[in-house]
Amino acid sequence: MITHREGARRRPRCPAKVAGRPYRGGVFLIFGFRTKDRFHSSAVRRCDFCGVTAAQSLVQRTTKFSLFFIPLFPVRAARWIRICTNCGGAREISRGEALAAA
Ligand SMILES: [Zn+2]
Repeated sequence: MITHREGARRRPRCPAKVAGRPYRGGVFLIFGFRTKDRFHSSAVRRCDFCGVTAAQSLVQRTTKFSLFFIPLFPVRAARWIRICTNCGGAREISRGEALAAA
């Protein structure tokens, strides 16, 4: 009688060992960084780039470390960006300035 444990021990661990090649080992990882913009608010003001009075979108940009396409934790502080809806010009602003505008 073969128990479950004995059967598992007889099974080869790796297909490479069965073929007679040495097992090189290795781990398959997919990692990277993901930057995402989150829209916060919009205000009408004069643009620094085109000079036109138009809506300026306030966006919070975060960059996170991702493992297997799953964002896990931020790798740098969140940035606040004001984007002109007329010309598309973007300018990074301080957190205090962004919170005052929101
Ligand atoms: Zn503009």
